[in-house]
Amino acid sequence: MGDVSTGRAIRVGENALGLDVEAIRADFPILDQKINDKPLIYLDNAATSQKPRTVINALIDYYRKYNANIHRGVHALAEQATERYEATRSHVARFLGDIDRERVVFTKGTTEAINLIASSYGVEQVRAGDNVVVTEMEHHANFVPWFHLADSTGAELRRIPITVCGHLDLSRIDDIITDRTRIVAVSHMSNVLGTIVDLQPLIDRAHDVGAIVVIDGAQSVPHFPVDLSALDADFYVFSAHKMLGPTGVGVLVGQREILDAMPPYQYGGSMIQEVRFDRVTYESSPNRFEAGTPNIADVVAFDAALSYLEHLGMDAVRLHERELTRYALRKLQEVPGLELQGPADAEHRGGVFSFTDPDIHPADIGAYLDAKGIAIRAGHHCAQPLLRQMQKVATARASIYVYNDESDIDRLVAALVDMRTYFGVG
Ligand code: PMP
Repeated sequence: MGDVSTGRAIRVGENALGLDVEAIRADFPILDQKINDKPLIYLDNAATSQKPRTVINALIDYYRKYNANIHRGVHALAEQATERYEATRSHVARFLGDIDRERVVFTKGTTEAINLIASSYGVEQVRAGDNVVVTEMEHHANFVPWFHLADSTGAELRRIPITVCGHLDLSRIDDIITDRTRIVAVSHMSNVLGTIVDLQPLIDRAHDVGAIVVIDGAQSVPHFPVDLSALDADFYVFSAHKMLGPTGVGVLVGQREILDAMPPYQYGGSMIQEVRFDRVTYESSPNRFEAGTPNIADVVAFDAALSYLEHLGMDAVRLHERELTRYALRKLQEVPGLELQGPADAEHRGGVFSFTDPDIHPADIGAYLDAKGIAIRAGHHCAQPLLRQMQKVATARASIYVYNDESDIDRLVAALVDMRTYFGVG
């Protein structure tokens, strides 16, 4: 387990819940390098996170020691690979509040998980005259599949608007979510505004009218505790790569009865009970939705990412990020003219900071910061409907994680101030 198992990552001192960022950084080999002759400051975590040594080693171990296809093998390597793959499923279930492991389906990411729900549940349940509800702050992954479903079935796509402060405006929720609503799809945390959404009113209203709720947890599960045993969500989805795990692994958690009643998403090996020339029967969940050889190596290595986060403690992760968010929101105001998006209050948001400069294009901000070794993102962040609503074409976006601290924010802010001089607008 490397550094994590020694407990070095937890600082016991002034703030027992705080993270020892220096020790954490030492667990991430990629961070120990220079970009454009400057020490790398990685602030593009909303796009993807970096991987600790334990995750990288788990991947290497898998290929060096027990690579085999799973579920069918009769030899030792196949048994070991199957056991480790299924152990990650159990670990995910524990991580999310000790839910039933059969509710956990592996996909290749959040995007595939939402497509699975739309093409299976959606195509079966949604008819012309029904409606599907999204919010104005959705990532394209939680918008385009619903747009396509509505477009192809003749259903109406409705949206919950946002307030000027970047929260969902629930004032007309009873008019938007009606007895013709079949699906309500909402992000737990916005990848542009950082807004953390209070899901309960939406879940309550959806269930009152007999609709199901799909929650995009791509930006929430990595950053704060999510207890699915307490949250009455029908579907909850997220990606491993944003929470220290490998790319190519997503998680779909569904209610058991709904999953088992849904038609399969893909057809082939591993998802069947019996195949005859004239009749095929399918497995129940989760195998029903995992046709073919899955991404064994990356699922196995994801287990190490979950262990790493558990060792830090998700409460401690949230506390660290909330304090750093508070710091960043204050410091970013030191940059003349900088316009910051999203809620101003760190209690109701995560560490995603979208901003614009009145005089400098976001792409130029990104390029300038890159020259200083600072990795951020510039663009529409796969949320064009939201940016249009904000009357922006693009923003610059810095986003934090467990290996960032005040010094990273200080360097970002100093570079943004220098940038204005460089561009002759300071
Ligand atoms: N939803 C949100 C809120 C996201 O931030 C992202 C990733 N940017 C996605 C969905 C899509 O995730 P993936 O690309 O891993 O499928």
